[in-house]
Amino acid sequence: QVVTRFAPSPTGYLHIGGARTALFNWLYARGRGGKFLLRIEDTDRARSTPEATQAILDGMSWLRLDHDGDVISQFERANRHAEVAHQMLDAGHAYKCFSTQEEIAAFREQARAEGRSTLFQSPWRDADPSTFPDAPYVIRLKAPRDGETVIEDQVQGAVTWKNDQLDDMICLRSDGTPTYMLAVVVDDHDMGVTHVIRGDDHLANAARQILVYNAMGWDVPVFAHIPLIHGPDGKKLSKRHGALGVEEYRAMGYPVEGMRNYLTRLGWSHGDDEVFTTEQALEWFGFDGIGKSPARFDFKKLENICGQHIAMTDDAALLAEIEDFLSATGQPKLTGGQQEGLSRAMYCLKDRAKTIPQLIEKAYFVLADRPLELDEKSSKAIDDVSCSILIELTPQLQNASWERETLEAVVADVAERNGTKLGKVAQPLRAALAGRAVSPSVFDMMLVIGRDETIARLTDATS
Ligand code: GLU
Repeated sequence: QVVTRFAPSPTGYLHIGGARTALFNWLYARGRGGKFLLRIEDTDRARSTPEATQAILDGMSWLRLDHDGDVISQFERANRHAEVAHQMLDAGHAYKCFSTQEEIAAFREQARAEGRSTLFQSPWRDADPSTFPDAPYVIRLKAPRDGETVIEDQVQGAVTWKNDQLDDMICLRSDGTPTYMLAVVVDDHDMGVTHVIRGDDHLANAARQILVYNAMGWDVPVFAHIPLIHGPDGKKLSKRHGALGVEEYRAMGYPVEGMRNYLTRLGWSHGDDEVFTTEQALEWFGFDGIGKSPARFDFKKLENICGQHIAMTDDAALLAEIEDFLSATGQPKLTGGQQEGLSRAMYCLKDRAKTIPQLIEKAYFVLADRPLELDEKSSKAIDDVSCSILIELTPQLQNASWERETLEAVVADVAERNGTKLGKVAQPLRAALAGRAVSPSVFDMMLVIGRDETIARLTDATS
C-alpha cells in the first residue's frame, strides 16, 4: 500500500510551494487507494508556532487535502529518535564524538590551509572507549568513507554522491535532542511512508538520509524530488509573483477546484490537458508527468483555469463556495432570500467570473434590497432622455408575457420607436435593475427577478 506524507515545518504560513507538495502527495496516495499522512516538523522550537500549524491545517482543509490518522508532531517523538541514535551506536553504525566547536573549527582551518576537504573527520570515529573523557558528546553517524551513494529519484533520475563527500553527520546533539536529519528518517520509517515526494531543495539531504536507512537496515522509500516553483520570469518566486500564503488565495476568492487544478499543473502535465476535475487528476497523476525544470507561477493562467472551473461547477456547489468565502473573509451570512436569489441567478452569473468576488459582484442585482443603491455610473446612465424611455417601457413590460423573446421584442420595439439603438435602452435598464455596470444581461435579470420586481425597480429609478 502506498503511504505518502506532507511534512511541513510550522514556521510561517502554508505557502504555495508547500500546498503544491501536499497536493502531489495527496493525489499520489489517494489515486492509488493509499494513505496520506501529515507530520508537523516542529523540532525547531524557537521558530515553530501554534499559529503556523493552524494556518497549515486551515489551508489544507480549504483545499480539501484530508489526511489519514492523527497529525504527528515530530517534537513529541524526540525520545524515539534518541532511541534509534543509541541503537546505531550499539550496533557500531554511529559513535560518540567529544570534539568541541573550537576543535572542529581548528580542523577546518587547517584543512583549508592545506587545500584538503573541509568536511570534518572526527578523531573519535574509531577511538577506544577507555579513552573517552567525562565530557559532553554528540552521536555521529559512521558514514562510509568510500564508494558511492545513489538515489534512484523518480523525477531527477539516478543521482550519485561520492561517499567521501558525505560527512559523519550528527544524529543526536550533546543535549540529547535529535537533529532534523535523523528525525525525518525515523518518522518516515515508523509511519510506514513508502513514497517521499518533496521539493528538490531536499535532494542533497536524501543522500545522507539513505545512510541512516542503511545503518538501521530499513527499506529506503521511493524518492521523488520535485522542482521548485519560479516566477513567470524564471526567477525565484517573490511575493509579487504569488509567493503568498494559501489563505491569501482564499481571501482573493479563487475557487477550490480551480486552485487545485492550477496547483496540479505547476510542474506536472498530462498531454495538453489544462482544465480537469479532481477525479481526472486522481486517475492521471503520477511521476511520469512531473517535469525536471522549475514550474512557473502565472496569475493569468490561474485566473483562466479558475474561470473555467466556475463555469463548470454545479450551482449548489458554487453557492456553498460563496458562503465559505463570505465566512472566511468575515462578511455577513447570506439571508434565505439571498440564497434563493443566487440559486435562481447562478446560471447567468457563472460565465466570465474568474473569482468568487467577481461572481458576487455580478450577483448584486439579487443580493441587494429595494430601493437599490445605484453606483455613480448607473445614476449617470439614467438622465432625462433615458428616464423618459424607461417610463415608456414600464407599461409595455407590465403587459408583456414574461419570456425571453417577448421581453427582447418589447425592448427592441421601444428602441425603434425612439429612433435609437438597443443599447440606449438596455443601458439605463441595466442601471435600474442592477445599479451596477457589471451584471448579467438585462433579459436574464428580468427573468430572474420577475415582473413585479422589475416594474418596482423601474418605478424606483424613474420617480
Ligand atoms: N520539513 C521540511 C520542510 O518543510 C520537509 C521535509 C521533508 O519533506 O522531508 O521543508
